[in-house]
Amino acid sequence: MEPGKAPPDRGVDSSPVTLYGEFTAVCNRKVRYAVSLTEKELVVQRLSSSPVQRNKVPLSLKDCVGSRAHRGEDNADPAAYFTVYFYPLRKRWMSSGTSRQRVEQCFRLAALQDPRYNLEEAEKWARAVMERSARQQSVRDGLVVMSEPSRRRIMLLVNPQSGRGQALSLYNTHVQRMLQEARLPHSLVITERQNHARELVRDADLSQWDALVIMSGDGLLFEVINGLLERPDWEEAIRTPLAILPGGSGNALAASVHHYSGATPLSSVELLLSCGFLLCKGLVSRMDLVSIHLSSGPRVFSFLSLAWGFVADVDIESEKYRHVRTARFTVGTLVKLASLRVYRGRLAYLPASPDNHNDQNNVQKTSLWPASNLDSFSRDNRCPIPEQNSCHSNNSVKITRRENGLHRRAGPPASLLPPLDRPVPGDWVVVPEEEFVLVLAMYQSHLAEDLYAAPDSALEDGLIHLLYVKAGISRAALLRLFLMMEKGTHLTTNCPHLVHTKARALRLEPQSPKGIITVDGEVVEYGPVQAEVHRGLARLITG
Ligand code: ADP
Ligand code: MG
Repeated sequence: MEPGKAPPDRGVDSSPVTLYGEFTAVCNRKVRYAVSLTEKELVVQRLSSSPVQRNKVPLSLKDCVGSRAHRGEDNADPAAYFTVYFYPLRKRWMSSGTSRQRVEQCFRLAALQDPRYNLEEAEKWARAVMERSARQQSVRDGLVVMSEPSRRRIMLLVNPQSGRGQALSLYNTHVQRMLQEARLPHSLVITERQNHARELVRDADLSQWDALVIMSGDGLLFEVINGLLERPDWEEAIRTPLAILPGGSGNALAASVHHYSGATPLSSVELLLSCGFLLCKGLVSRMDLVSIHLSSGPRVFSFLSLAWGFVADVDIESEKYRHVRTARFTVGTLVKLASLRVYRGRLAYLPASPDNHNDQNNVQKTSLWPASNLDSFSRDNRCPIPEQNSCHSNNSVKITRRENGLHRRAGPPASLLPPLDRPVPGDWVVVPEEEFVLVLAMYQSHLAEDLYAAPDSALEDGLIHLLYVKAGISRAALLRLFLMMEKGTHLTTNCPHLVHTKARALRLEPQSPKGIITVDGEVVEYGPVQAEVHRGLARLITG
């Protein structure tokens, strides 16, 4: 601080100023700034004789992903620099709502001729900003998970084929820099083929990784979740924090996570920046998974949806429109409407009890990244969110004998499902209709970036949100439902053909000889299926 200048004792947020300094701008050393740090904000004020230029600019530390101190390129210059990276929500240009936009603040410190002193001063600022920024989120959650960053880091899996094949360039232009700013070291894995990621996580030494981040559409996350649940140590493995960065044409989970963070709907790069920001913040929540039992025996685990009829057909047939990226579903819907058909089958479900509803306020979160990524880490303590599910029974790893040898069946045991060849229990609801246009089970809010299909779904509500449309609906009424789905208002229409209910398990027995069933947008074996929700089984980095 310069002699004779008194620091302000309150910041814009009226909390006490804990650090004050006067620095110069990087490109113009005549421009000077007074910088104050409070518990919540970094307040920047230009020191100028013009009152207009002297406006205080507060930058919320909640929006800060990182800060660093460094020397300049010129060794003869004793100055040091301190840079802070923010991603505040700003009004979008020429459209409604807000999106995260990158703001970099860099200051030059040259109080003394001693470069070591200047650098120490810059480091003190960088550390103080990081610590306060981390406190802004961890105070609320109570639990902070520490890790040893020197040993462990992020595995970032990118599917170079997803979407229009742009995931890798999106990584290069946006994600890499953001993770560097947040000091999150990561190893990039570019998948080479389908199921590459699944095999990789099935065999990986997970103790090396703090989180598995998937940059693709929903399909690659489906592989990763199923790979984790195929491991003999699946109970521990599935608690590895996962994160999703949208890079595909179907980015439903990314859209859901962004939606849960309370922000206005976004797509493409803006959605990517939002999800990247959440990743840097590293708050871990639990996420429901649903086990889907297929008729020939195997199980798959699903984090998003089970679809049959119109939605499944659109999803798969619209593959050919993937060059239009996320608009592929809109185009596919319009094309498919022209050949609207009826799907015959039987549907039954176990209704959710009323006390299962809307208790999402109990959701607990932990912070994955340490209070500061700079120093002082304690023992490894991976995500100690208390268990609520009964997936810990000792018999949960079943050994089944098959013709081709001994198979270890991993994953939580089914507790609600009868064998497929037996009738459903008496407390299940058997849907009287046997002709449908679509059956859709959802466990997150979005079916695509612009399809807000299950508005009251939460990440960990332990519920299957079941929607089905009975045969007899007109093309116009079905189109109206899909158009309303963009805003999530389709459930308020009193459409007599649409049924919406909440379940914990279901059985679907298609009677039409050929057809498509999708799980998280991926085609699975066509035939009778049963599904059961496992509350909070996985961990996901959210806001
Ligand atoms: P999109 O939303 O664009 O469809 P996904 O992430 O859903 O993107 O991936 C589509 C499919 O590609 C998934 O079935 C996934 O398993 C598969 N896949 C993953 N990596 C590769 C790869 N390197 N080459 C081809 N297919 C891949
Ligand atoms: Mg849910």
